[in-house]
Amino acid sequence: MPRQKMRVLIVDALGAGRGERKATVDVIGAGPRAVAGVLESRGVSVDLATAKQVLSLDKPLSGYDALLVSGMVSDVPAVSSVSKLWRKVSDGPLIVGGPLAADFHQLRRRVSYEVAVVGEGEQTLEELVSSGLFGGEAEAEELSKIRGIAYSIEGKHAFTGLRPVMPPEMFRRYKPSPRVVSKYPLYRACRVYVEVVRGCSNYLRTKIELPDGRKCIDCLRCIEGDLEERYYCPAGIPPGCGYCSVPSLFGPSRSKPTDLVVEEVEGLVEEGVCRVVLSASDFLDYGRDWLVAPKPLTNPREPPANLEAIEDLLSSLAGINRVSSGRAVVMVENLKPGLVTEEVARVLGKYLRNTPVHIGCETASRELCEAIGRPSTPEEAVRAVKLLRKHGLRPYLYFIHGLPGETVENLVETARFVRSLAAAGVEKVTVYRFTPLPMSAFGDFPKAPPAHQRAGARELVEAAKEVNKLSKKELLGREIEVVLAKEKRGFWIAYPLRHGPVVYVKEVSQASSGDRALVRVTRVVSDRAVEAKLAHKV
Ligand code: SF4
Repeated sequence: MPRQKMRVLIVDALGAGRGERKATVDVIGAGPRAVAGVLESRGVSVDLATAKQVLSLDKPLSGYDALLVSGMVSDVPAVSSVSKLWRKVSDGPLIVGGPLAADFHQLRRRVSYEVAVVGEGEQTLEELVSSGLFGGEAEAEELSKIRGIAYSIEGKHAFTGLRPVMPPEMFRRYKPSPRVVSKYPLYRACRVYVEVVRGCSNYLRTKIELPDGRKCIDCLRCIEGDLEERYYCPAGIPPGCGYCSVPSLFGPSRSKPTDLVVEEVEGLVEEGVCRVVLSASDFLDYGRDWLVAPKPLTNPREPPANLEAIEDLLSSLAGINRVSSGRAVVMVENLKPGLVTEEVARVLGKYLRNTPVHIGCETASRELCEAIGRPSTPEEAVRAVKLLRKHGLRPYLYFIHGLPGETVENLVETARFVRSLAAAGVEKVTVYRFTPLPMSAFGDFPKAPPAHQRAGARELVEAAKEVNKLSKKELLGREIEVVLAKEKRGFWIAYPLRHGPVVYVKEVSQASSGDRALVRVTRVVSDRAVEAKLAHKV
């Protein structure tokens, strides 16, 4: 009898926290689709569910040969709960991936995984399929030969070491699966992320002494060195902004070929996706690596943005039928302010008009920026905001409280700075609490206390709320196009097609999730949500 296809369930626990996402509920990340693509190409039958579906028992776990769970560091409780349910119904392998896998040592205390995939997963997954792991046949000896995993099997635990970063030409070999996007509830209303750049070009390092005594010795390699020299630090400081693990885990920026991105977006919009976000730690790194190849892009500021590559990508995406007809919208995720020039803002404005763009600023203190390894200054962030606003984009800014090296004065200064941002044209300010990430330079610092427990941090969070409420008030009386997501207590929860606050829409009859509507904003509910009346269905 022919052997039946292996059946694998991917559980997306990204952002699930204790089991249910509380923020950015309309986001679908790129990672689980990339995993599905690799497995499908190896003849594995792939299904997908969210952690919430699994934990609410909407998605039974029986009938699968293996379970893959993807999550962030903050999602350990949800992943742990999913793993316990899995163990009740199966002795098949549990594989964990995503940012939480980098802390595989701690993770083992809460999650009884067989394999944790650390860093880039595509090649590793292929080798895991070949090892027989998914059929429960892999032996520790076999697994010990696969780079990029921590395994716990036959009573043996080991980490096989990080895999060297994947050369960009390998991107052609791995195509994410657009098909599985339809497994997400409400996917027609969600922002679906498409990876266009992997890794990060910031190889500067923090100047703050790390808890284990490692400290910059001012060799200047990461500041003035050649692109290859910047890769290694003689003091062993992990690259990038101190709080971030992207360069350690994923290496320098590498762009996906334009035709692959276009193919993926076409596949997604054919599935019914109408909000696409091009994901990158800096969208302006797109094609910059091609200018320095074969050297690694480890300089966050030189060469300048590759406008030809960016325009080629954005114009190709704008030419997709459902995008040119307005049925789907393309947005970008993050920009680093140091690369924003008038010309860059003009090109972005030409294709991304009226969409948001996220800019990391983190603190208003120039000294702290330098100390944590930021590649740009607060002044550059304000300049970028003004340029992007001038060319029709809607800037959102990020800040962090509780960073190592931060003082109360820094926080007070940042709160003042945030209040001034509304005049510069910022639409939204988000303040994160510093959380140590494994494999980042600040991985061994303590997590910051909640903002309400600390002077300065409270003011900063309040200042952000003020700015956010102010911009919501500007929406009053305006018509915006939304995508209806789900009905709840007489309202429809909807998301602006071009992103924005959650919209509670009244007086909608006979609608389905994914329907589009034009609504008129009638009330500001909070710094994150507005209420609106239906103007007409689109
Ligand atoms: S490479 Fe390391 S030691 Fe040299 S300047 Fe950068 S952080 Fe300091």
